[in-house]
Amino acid sequence: MSSLHPALFINGEWRHGHGSVFESLNPVSQQVLWQAVSANRSDVDEAVKAARAAFPNWAKTDVNHRIEILRKFASLLAENKARLADVIGSETGKPRWESVTEVTTMVNKIEISIQSYQERTGIKENSMPDAKAVLRHRPHGVVAVFGPYNFPGHLPNGHIVPALLAGNCVVFKPSELTPMMAEETVKLWELSGLPAGVINLVTGAKETGIALASHSGIDGLFFTGSSLTGEILHKQFAGHPDKILALEMGGNNPLIVKDVADVDAAVHHIVQSAFVSAGQRCTCARRLLVEAGSAGDQLIERLISVVKAIKVGRFDDAEQPFMGSVISLAAAKAMLDAQAKLLAAGGVSLLEMQSLEAGTALLSPGIIDVSAISEPIDEEFFGPLLQIIRFTTFDEAIEVANQTRFGLAAGLLSDERALFDRLLLEARAGIVNWNKPLTGASSAAPFGGIGASGNHRPSAYYAADYCAWPMASLESET
Ligand code: ADP
Repeated sequence: MSSLHPALFINGEWRHGHGSVFESLNPVSQQVLWQAVSANRSDVDEAVKAARAAFPNWAKTDVNHRIEILRKFASLLAENKARLADVIGSETGKPRWESVTEVTTMVNKIEISIQSYQERTGIKENSMPDAKAVLRHRPHGVVAVFGPYNFPGHLPNGHIVPALLAGNCVVFKPSELTPMMAEETVKLWELSGLPAGVINLVTGAKETGIALASHSGIDGLFFTGSSLTGEILHKQFAGHPDKILALEMGGNNPLIVKDVADVDAAVHHIVQSAFVSAGQRCTCARRLLVEAGSAGDQLIERLISVVKAIKVGRFDDAEQPFMGSVISLAAAKAMLDAQAKLLAAGGVSLLEMQSLEAGTALLSPGIIDVSAISEPIDEEFFGPLLQIIRFTTFDEAIEVANQTRFGLAAGLLSDERALFDRLLLEARAGIVNWNKPLTGASSAAPFGGIGASGNHRPSAYYAADYCAWPMASLESET
């Protein structure tokens, strides 16, 4: 059991909040892991003021010094990898192997962010006979970073690292479901030598988020979370052309299978796409589009038998499971409700998603054929439930794939490259994969969607483009 402890980091000091008591629970055992008082409006105000005060000096710091601090932070992450993985696993229910991978990704992305920034900034072009044009980057000022629960380390860091590198100061508001990992990460930032006020942590739930997002002292907000909240923020920022808003939200991602000789390979990619992280990645395949007829029947049969055998278990099981729990009991209930809604609308269960142990957030993976639902239900069901839709022609498959207001990822499993070329042209998505899981992404590739799924590319490589304004100058050569 834990006791209330200071969980806000403001101007280089750990402090108690003045909001309400909140807890972080292990989603499987329901044990209380962490308890603190959240940040209220005046705590948030202090955090923003601390960041504002730190900004002028931080922005003027030599970039090589900022890089040194980031590298120190990377080495601290690496040194503490096993401990941080324990924190992620116990707070999110992810298996240990996945939690370790998350920390490794955090470390690797730091160097990619540094390289990308160095490649982009200071570029000189001799576009005129007597002058050179130089591209530099100008930080926004104070940016708020809203982190999600599914990758409580690596996704917020995807914004925080490039933001600090470019000379911004940060107020970090983690998901209320993963405050413990946020606190551990910020403790390492503290040890890395960041000056006071450059990074500030405000833990809390929606009230803390509202106070931060509406604070007049922030110059930008980088958000990863649900489309519902992202859309509220979008409206809120619409009246502020002077502020930058980067949104990474949901997806209702289609994966089309057509003309595959190697059914086992296809099934492997489908399982990875739909069920890794218990279906809690924004790029997870939600809708599997399979050809009507015997080839499709055979694939579905094979898929069901493989998914039935997926091992679901606890973070620290000696024999590591492929899938852990979903994030909370509420999330598990929401997934079971989603399944019931699809069944009521005419879906046919092929493999029922079930609660594995009462009182835990462990769910078995499920598959549901929704071909008979005439009005598509375009929602992101964030968990281990795969919907199957049968199609007859590839034209129809593309049309169905695009029946979503989200546009994050779309994929094709097929031996026919020509079909992929068509999908590349016609898919409404920011990520389009071929014969690879939808959830696979290169750290150096742009990551993000179109439509209601996002408006920026929060990957290490491209983050420099929104974490700072590109600034052009024309300089005399004499
Ligand atoms: P998720 O379902 O991924 O937890 P939410 O959209 O519910 O995503 O929340 C994402 C983050 O936004 C959380 O940190 C939450 O506290 C915060 N939040 C929720 N509603 C609002 C709001 N209206 N304004 C600002 N922040 C909010």
